[in-house]
Amino acid sequence: MEKVMYSVVEKKYPVVEYAKDMYVYDTEGRKYLDCAAGIAVANIGHGVEDVINEIYSQAKKATFVYGGTFTSNARQKLANQIIDMAPKGMDKVFFCSGGSEAMESVIKIARQYHLECGNTGKYKIISRWQSYHGNTITTLSVGGRPSWRKKYEPYFNEMPHISQCNCYRCPYGMKKESCNIMCAKELERIIKFEGPETVAAFIIEPIIGTTAAATMPPVEYIKEIRDICDKYNVLLCYDEVITGFGRTGKNFAADHFGVVPDLIGVAKGLGSGYMPIGGVIIHKKIVDAIINGSGELAHSFTFAGNPLACAAASKVLEYMNNNNLVENSRLMGEYFLEKLKELEALPCVGEVRGVGLMLAVEFVKDKKTKAPFKADVKFSGRVAGYCFERGLMVTAGVAGSADGIDGEAMQIAPPYIITKEQIDFAVSLLKEAIEYTYNQIQE
Ligand code: PLP
Repeated sequence: MEKVMYSVVEKKYPVVEYAKDMYVYDTEGRKYLDCAAGIAVANIGHGVEDVINEIYSQAKKATFVYGGTFTSNARQKLANQIIDMAPKGMDKVFFCSGGSEAMESVIKIARQYHLECGNTGKYKIISRWQSYHGNTITTLSVGGRPSWRKKYEPYFNEMPHISQCNCYRCPYGMKKESCNIMCAKELERIIKFEGPETVAAFIIEPIIGTTAAATMPPVEYIKEIRDICDKYNVLLCYDEVITGFGRTGKNFAADHFGVVPDLIGVAKGLGSGYMPIGGVIIHKKIVDAIINGSGELAHSFTFAGNPLACAAASKVLEYMNNNNLVENSRLMGEYFLEKLKELEALPCVGEVRGVGLMLAVEFVKDKKTKAPFKADVKFSGRVAGYCFERGLMVTAGVAGSADGIDGEAMQIAPPYIITKEQIDFAVSLLKEAIEYTYNQIQE
């Protein structure tokens, strides 16, 4: 009997043998085209020698020093590279080891900013339903993925949530042309009800990840929430754990909207899976407030900014840059989206959407009413399972994208090195999988 405690405890998982470029190979000799990048992580592809050599070379020098005692060239270089890529005005990077740590850190840094400014009453974090910010108690409570929250609700420090901006499924039942961005105005309403003197930050995934994959708001929405945040001295924080570092065809999702946030949480693609690493990119106004206040960030983790992870991530970003991979994400994304759009002709595909290589197929039971399949049909999971059996990895997504309970949007987020031939293969297998699954549930 196996001793690993898996999430699906008794499932038989394939055993990985090795991974190279776009493919993962298991010990049974099967190969899988990785159109999930693991889970939106392996952005530069698998087995890049430059990164592996850099890890080896750093490991020979120093694997670990405590970040509270030493810094390293790798850590300093990586911070510079990130700030060079980030929206103008972002000034420093706090490092950690993953997305949940990054988003916990965002919450704590937001609170500290207000304390430094003497606004001691500001602590509430407003966020949105159908979003995900991590799996620790606080990030789960701030997140809006009901199926993952339920069991742990007794531990939550409940914070206000507002609706998503989702023009395919407008929470107000309105049309984009005439909605007057009601969903953004909702932020102002909630801030007033909660009391602006209590609200520290508004946290969003600017382009949503696995909970309602690739849902993207119009530019006006982001501009409006920025204005509202400024009006009430509320920090605007982006969760770019998935979207950061080229996933959407630009360095950051933030770059699609021309609006600079105050804090950006990042992880996943930063290390591209070569080492676990995350971080918070911090706006100068917050850095200055801390320097001019206590001078200390009251927050740290043991592995924060360790040289090995920083060296790997630094090489990942260099490799991305030298090989124009962000641009490739944009170009291949356009091709992939165009091909995927053909699936909209199928009776159970409600919407195909996305930007860069952050793509999604939303399934519906009824195209006209947009009624989703019931979660227990596991439609998206079945489609993903069919594909996996035949050598294609995509991410099923989490039920609840439509109304918190039902609705599934499959996430397609391959490494940026994907080719047109691989895209053609993926789309044709996906079509077969959707048709097969749809026919099966009609029987
Ligand atoms: N935020 C977003 C948008 C994510 O997609 C994830 C993970 O999927 C997280 C935060 C949490 O990251 P991690 O699993 O590395 O803790």
